[in-house]
Amino acid sequence: MSKAREPYYSYKRYLSERYGTTVYRVSVDAGFSCPHRGADRSGPGCIFCGPEGARAPYLGDSSAGDESGRLEAQIRGALEFLKKRYGAREFILYFQAYSNTNAPAARLKELYDRGLSQADFRELVVSTRPDCVDREKADLLASYKNGRRDVWIELGLQSFHDRTLERINRGHTAADFRDAFALCRERGLKICVHLVFGLPGEGRPEIEATVRELAALGPDGVKIHNLHVIAGTPLAEEYARGLVKVPGAAEHLERVIGALELLGPKTVIMRLVCDTPPARLVAPRDFPDKQRFLALLRAEMARRGSCQGKSHPGGIYP
Ligand code: SF4
Repeated sequence: MSKAREPYYSYKRYLSERYGTTVYRVSVDAGFSCPHRGADRSGPGCIFCGPEGARAPYLGDSSAGDESGRLEAQIRGALEFLKKRYGAREFILYFQAYSNTNAPAARLKELYDRGLSQADFRELVVSTRPDCVDREKADLLASYKNGRRDVWIELGLQSFHDRTLERINRGHTAADFRDAFALCRERGLKICVHLVFGLPGEGRPEIEATVRELAALGPDGVKIHNLHVIAGTPLAEEYARGLVKVPGAAEHLERVIGALELLGPKTVIMRLVCDTPPARLVAPRDFPDKQRFLALLRAEMARRGSCQGKSHPGGIYP
């Protein structure tokens, strides 16, 4: 029985169309921090962000940083594992933890060069904040593009509403995002934008306004997260005091369908839910797991005759 096509342009489909095979991500923590957390990563960052700063849970606690060849060791370990476990042959190097352009360009070059020297990576992916991107850094990233390798930048936006960005202590504005987006687009970088649905003070109208504005920019990819309350964060304190609510699955599903219909058909949907490890997750505790949520989403979109791009002037997917 043939598998029904997703009603949206999934990341899996993008990779398979682009490379004709499965490509595996090698995520690293190169020791960066964020401007509002300080060099030792201890300062107050975004209210929802845990001490791990979006680093992959499988990296454990001992492999952070770039000193003494740790960056190379992380990459070699991941490559060995992926080759042995999955027979992997093609890889993406993903600078994931914290803000991976938060250093002078010369330092970035050293770290990217060291990482890329470990294998013939098909993509360099760098996750960062809009206020950590300038011309020099965007030029540097663009210099890693070649006929065989794409360069992606993942920009954390979360919301286009400045009052929300202030409320969640992002430390940057929507204008910072627009500037960074333009710099990266001018240089032909592929751009993935991170959003969070359900931030304090935001309901469907605010989320829809953010997605509409983003859709008009035509990002290459989007990662959508449902608001998660992670233990030990300022958000967890607010949640314990009853100051914030966290959207459940039905609410998130409704918002995701609305967003997918607004986004253009060529934007790759790289994520639609959070998958915080249960040990760190305070709320929501009754959210279906990722596969179950995606199955519910497919079923509901099929029932409604919904698909990505349905409300976008660029047409529908596929
Ligand atoms: S910028 Fe990213 S890594 Fe840094 S505190 Fe905010 S969410 Fe966490």
